[in-house]
Amino acid sequence: MTLTLTTTQIEDQHTSGTYSKRPLTLVRGAGCTVWDDAGNAYLDATSGMGVALLGHAHPAVVAAISAQAATLITSAEIFYNDRRAELYALLHDITGFERYFLCNSGTEAMEGALKIARLLTGRRGIVAAKRSFHGRTLGAVGLTWNPAYREPFEGWTPEGVTHIAYNNLADADAAINENTAAVVIEAVQGEGGVYPADPAFLRGLRDLCTQRGALLIIDEIQMGLGRTGRWFGYQHAEIQPDMITLGKGLAGGVPMGAVAWNGRQIEAGTHGSTFGGNPLACAAAIASLTALRDLNAPERTAQIGGRLLDRLRADQPASVREVRGLGLIIGLELKGRVTPVIQALQARGVLALVAGKTVLRLLPPLILTDEEADRLADTVLEVLRDDVA
Ligand code: PLP
Repeated sequence: MTLTLTTTQIEDQHTSGTYSKRPLTLVRGAGCTVWDDAGNAYLDATSGMGVALLGHAHPAVVAAISAQAATLITSAEIFYNDRRAELYALLHDITGFERYFLCNSGTEAMEGALKIARLLTGRRGIVAAKRSFHGRTLGAVGLTWNPAYREPFEGWTPEGVTHIAYNNLADADAAINENTAAVVIEAVQGEGGVYPADPAFLRGLRDLCTQRGALLIIDEIQMGLGRTGRWFGYQHAEIQPDMITLGKGLAGGVPMGAVAWNGRQIEAGTHGSTFGGNPLACAAAIASLTALRDLNAPERTAQIGGRLLDRLRADQPASVREVRGLGLIIGLELKGRVTPVIQALQARGVLALVAGKTVLRLLPPLILTDEEADRLADTVLEVLRDDVA
């Protein structure tokens, strides 16, 4: 007799164990909707962890991937490539930055940013923020604040990271000195609980970095490409960083990260990646960025996010301590634990994220329609009024 194992049984048997999985098997997506293996539909207010800016199976991204897959999937950056050149030009158009290092994830973009900052300045010190999240590889996790993520690996993580309080310029003033290669900061702390930066804090950091010769690096991996209602989160503060990092939705769901900066190139051989800048990911990124630009994604996000935020604030249930957000990154700080709320939302056909133990994080695709935004607000408010928290 052959025993057929289910998807969950096979995954549970072989997974690393690092993920606390929800009991749901997703098999398909289109727009803002994903479906499970029983055919149930869910409004995806996770965007596949902030990646699906254009929703799922966006036709332009699908067509670009399919065409490129039949043309040239892989070609390392030791050779030139037409798609990569096109992407560089498009990124330059959108970000204004001159130089890019292309890689395959957010954490890799942070690793690249750390190395490039040290190469460009000849300094080693890094200033990051408490409550920050910059990734899980050894360099990036050294920047990341959460001790549960960082401390088990200390000794391997880079020396010389000073963590300052977010939105606290006095702390920054004390920490940034002649050994500081870079200050690394999120324009809105996403994983850390959805805390937008005070624009005056970002402007103050800009001034301190300029005065003391340190680079200002904004981690735009979760907030970039329209999420906050501007192309980049730092634009809310009207500043110009020295470097930004990108990831998540950059290539419409195909893994890709990027470091962008101005000024001089780094020396040959000081960094690299086999898959970085591969034609498949570049084609997907060209299609995604073009679609985001054609949709006026930042403007649309500001409008729909504002509507969602107003609804949630106007009707704020007693179980909610505070509603924070910018564009389509919204955090509801609850008086109780968030896990039961996530479960209740899922039972009502909405998938959402957490940001810590008490913050419900809504991170829907930027193509969310008015009707979907209303359904999301209605369901969240209904669940929070039921006081499942
Ligand atoms: N930086 C920020 C702000 C993030 O939100 C994330 C992921 O959530 C990362 C870095 C790490 O990206 P990745 O998971 O692609 O390595």
